[in-house]
Amino acid sequence: MIVCRTIQELKASLSELRTDRKSLGFVPTMGYLHEGHASLLRRAEEENDVTVLSIFVNPLQFGPNEDLDRYPRDEERDLAIAAECGTDIVFLPSVKEMYPKRPLTTVLVSGITSRLCGASRPGHFDGVGTVVSKLFHLVIPTRAYFGMKDAQQVAVIEQMVHDLNFEVEIVRCETVREPDGLALSSRNVYLSAEQREQAVRLSQSLQMAGDWLYAPGMTAGQLKRNIVSHITESELAEIDYAEFLTYPSLEPIDEQTSTATLEEQTIVALAVKFGTTRLIDNRLFDI
Ligand code: AMP
Repeated sequence: MIVCRTIQELKASLSELRTDRKSLGFVPTMGYLHEGHASLLRRAEEENDVTVLSIFVNPLQFGPNEDLDRYPRDEERDLAIAAECGTDIVFLPSVKEMYPKRPLTTVLVSGITSRLCGASRPGHFDGVGTVVSKLFHLVIPTRAYFGMKDAQQVAVIEQMVHDLNFEVEIVRCETVREPDGLALSSRNVYLSAEQREQAVRLSQSLQMAGDWLYAPGMTAGQLKRNIVSHITESELAEIDYAEFLTYPSLEPIDEQTSTATLEEQTIVALAVKFGTTRLIDNRLFDI
């Protein structure tokens, strides 16, 4: 496994490994790898000749009062996991390497970024679009692997790839969960024991939403209220959003709409704070 810290090193390594017909699978991350990241890496390794992992905590996608400075990092462990998953190249640039100066060009996907995390975290998806564009230009992957835990991010990247004609196939990967259902996240380490216990309510409510959705007489508004009341039974949970939208267009569904009449794919998307830790989770429904 080759570890590259500069763009020049990355380009040199890629040109050695990538001969004409080799396919390249790319997994962009912010590090502190867990089994969710590992599942993306393994899939990339299975489906491509060469696997590239990037680890970069991208300051552009953090707001001023977010956790950029305390975002967990463990390079040694990350490299061990990457090697175990059969990664060929790890790109680990510094902030200076990626942004020698604050960029004047950013990639902004409009519309679908106005809701959910785009509304709660202004500028977040501009940071994501910009860094993923840069990484795609540097790595030139055949396929790039993204987790559906960040379903809005997947919708944004797919839109960007379509609009800007990036020649990359975006591969949607299933959310990996703890045995009790909590979606794996690098941020789960912030949770106290009590918060961790109550955090299971996110995935529980998504499970229950699957039953509620098909209950006779259920409306979009009632579905949301059921979800909110299940989560707020935990006194430590503070809901940032609990939305029921179309996916991937992320259009709101009128509260009165009977769920039995829905004709497109939908998403229940949640962002819930436990103290200062903000967790997200979601579930897609094919009707
Ligand atoms: P992050 O390091 O949090 O930016 O995540 C890097 C990639 O891993 C993104 O495509 C995430 O959606 C994906 N990812 C994060 N958590 C999970 C999970 N629990 N299951 C599957 N993929 C995940």
